[in-house]
Amino acid sequence: MSYELPEKLKNLPKYDPVTEIYRVRLDANESFLEMPENIKQEILKAVSEVEFNRYPDPNATELCRKFGELFHVKPELLTAGNGSDELISIIVPNFLGEGDCMLTILPDFSMYTFYTRMVGARAEALNKDENMEVTPEEIIEKAAQCNAKLLVFSNPCNPTAVTMNREDILKIVGAVDAMVVVDEAYMEFSEGSVLDEIENYENLIVLKTCSKAFGMAAIRLGFAGANARITNILKTLKAPYNVNSMTQAAGSVILGHKEYLENCTAQIKASAQELYQAMKVLAEKKQDIQKLYPTATNFLYIKTDRSSEIYEALKKEGISIRNMKGYLRISAGSRAENQELVQALDRLLA
Ligand SMILES: *Cc1c(COP(=O)(O)O)cnc(C)c1O
Repeated sequence: MSYELPEKLKNLPKYDPVTEIYRVRLDANESFLEMPENIKQEILKAVSEVEFNRYPDPNATELCRKFGELFHVKPELLTAGNGSDELISIIVPNFLGEGDCMLTILPDFSMYTFYTRMVGARAEALNKDENMEVTPEEIIEKAAQCNAKLLVFSNPCNPTAVTMNREDILKIVGAVDAMVVVDEAYMEFSEGSVLDEIENYENLIVLKTCSKAFGMAAIRLGFAGANARITNILKTLKAPYNVNSMTQAAGSVILGHKEYLENCTAQIKASAQELYQAMKVLAEKKQDIQKLYPTATNFLYIKTDRSSEIYEALKKEGISIRNMKGYLRISAGSRAENQELVQALDRLLA
């Protein structure tokens, strides 16, 4: 036997999420809010009614209906995914051919680029400036220059917490000869969604997730919104039974609690603003915090030469954040968690 692995599977770069459990978990931009008991009971009941011997609804009809209601989108323009991660893994390789160019704007979510190697596509990047901004003109020019077939970015951006305005996004979508994927994982904390524009463009896919503002990271649920033609393609590309019945049952219950979800979003937003204010005070005192970026999300992005050192020291105290080499990304937690973090930083950066 002389089996040789395909070249693209050798030396795969690993996505390295934090897997140890820390006391204070501010590393994954999750919601810090626990599901209330009454909703948990409703979920348990719904899950107990699942027909376990049957395959799930391939169209996740009820989920799309409820999500569509919340976001004022026609349910038939939504594709449910096993997290928006799954949707990214479907879109990136399939909307690119061998040698095609995918354009990203860095820094951004690392998973976008990962899938280009699976189809032998080229990943080109445009770098953001010191303020983590880039103009639509720069993006349009770069897309033309590298003949981009796919442009993917998050808005608001993970990890920079910076947001681009709606007019600029639409200007880009209207000008490039590429499919544009706008990942709105954190849009509930900001404004300027382009989800209501999906029917006006032939080249726009908007990604949403239930993992962040809605606090459902455990059940893996995300959506892609696009016009009917693209939606049809996405539904054909995805595995037929991609969203399992337990997720469909639980998701339908939670998405039915509009007020609860709005309340969660508001609480997380308030926590992020509180953390931002406390960090701003700290940044004025501590030279090691070189820059604190404004946040339109539930996390902070901080420039510091001592990122690795701070990351390790916080870990020893049971606090987990994301180290991004020269930068730190810190999710907003509960008030107590935020205070503990700020106090620990205050001590560390004495
Ligand atoms: C968290 C995150 C996702 C993944 O969301 P899931 O629905 O949990 O897979 C996608 N994009 C960005 C930018 C994120 O930060």
